[in-house]
Amino acid sequence: MNFNIPTKIYLNEAVLENFGNEIADYGKKALIVTGKNSAIKSGVMDDLLPILDKLNIQYSVFNEIMENPDIQIISKGKDAFLQLMTSYEIAGRRRCPDNICDFIIAIGGGSPLDAGKAISIMAANDLATKDIYNTALHKKAFPIIAIPTTSGTGSEVTQYSVLNNNETKTKAGFGNTLMFPKIAFLNPKYTLSLNKTITRDTAIDALSHLLEGLYSNKYNGFLLPIIYQGIKIIFENLPLCLNEPENIVYRQKLMLASNYGGIVIAHTSTTLQHSIGYPLTTIFELSHGLANGVVMKKIMDLYEPHIKNRLNDLFSFLNITKHKFFDWLDALDMRFTGKIDASFLQNRVPEVMASRNMALNPCQVNEDDIIKIYCSLELDRS
Ligand code: NAP
Ligand code: ZN
Repeated sequence: MNFNIPTKIYLNEAVLENFGNEIADYGKKALIVTGKNSAIKSGVMDDLLPILDKLNIQYSVFNEIMENPDIQIISKGKDAFLQLMTSYEIAGRRRCPDNICDFIIAIGGGSPLDAGKAISIMAANDLATKDIYNTALHKKAFPIIAIPTTSGTGSEVTQYSVLNNNETKTKAGFGNTLMFPKIAFLNPKYTLSLNKTITRDTAIDALSHLLEGLYSNKYNGFLLPIIYQGIKIIFENLPLCLNEPENIVYRQKLMLASNYGGIVIAHTSTTLQHSIGYPLTTIFELSHGLANGVVMKKIMDLYEPHIKNRLNDLFSFLNITKHKFFDWLDALDMRFTGKIDASFLQNRVPEVMASRNMALNPCQVNEDDIIKIYCSLELDRS
């Protein structure tokens, strides 16, 4: 058993005001990596920029990270980090002088956080896009500060980056301990601007991570209290938060559970639950959390005979039955909108079988198991 999270984690309602000074430890020039709107809508920029000014830290803003970021944007981010882009291409209030940045501040959901990690690795090792997954070439990284604005991925405390390849319509992650953020600043107020759909989908992603901590054959007893507590928090608070999205107490609980999920997968990684969802995102554009959500019951059914005791213990801790848990999932109304056809199965089932998460399933999974799950999505809809 082992437990190791090198990221320093702060969670509080004035987290940057209270602890933002620590950013100064990482240099004088930052590249802020974010999406189109999240850093502003969430209120992070209002809190962060005065602190950077006070600390005399210069910054540029690279705000081009799309949902499920494509590998090509990482290369553009690398140029921004190395200050190879012209000033009008970088949307910062102030441009760093003509030398490279010292560190990255990644702000947003999992997409900008993962992009920030990949940019750090690509810039530090001067990698070409084709080498991004070749972790043998990842020898160093620039420091990363993570400020999440969704409660789902836990990326602020993981060593993973998950990227899309829009040409091949595939999605895959890579991991390297160099990519653990140095500090994660968590403030639930940054998630108040999330709509209900993103709130639900991201919380279900966190729930997937926690469940996969139980499923994974890297399961580790140190994680058990975190897994149980995280699942209980989501089970109790997600419906409340969806009814009252502006309630900061529910937001704080979901943010904590999401962070727990990140801590868990940093140790156990993910399983088929995640890899079967990736094609649902790349081909049918389901959000990452929804792609996990629509297969969650089927994956639990598939694994159950092999991890019966672990599931029984979980449900007795929650004081519910599996049936009740499934009812809870049904009430969230997660729907698959796509068309599973022969060509999808022909192309995507081998991709799922080849994914590195498959080594972590608690049982042998074959192509037929995957086909059955995909086809059941069609049945569910009819
Ligand atoms: P996301 O793709 O980062 O963001 C989804 C949407 O939410 C975007 O439109 C974003 O806007 C918006 N948004 C974010 N914060 C907001 C806020 N506070 N208010 C209003 N809108 C906001 O979603 P995510 O589910 O957090 O991340 C998914 C990605 O993370 C996937 O690529 C997934 O594979 C990856 N992931 C990584 C890990 C890991 O350990 N590294 C684990 C699980 C998942 P903007 O476009 O303006 O940003
Ligand atoms: Zn996930």
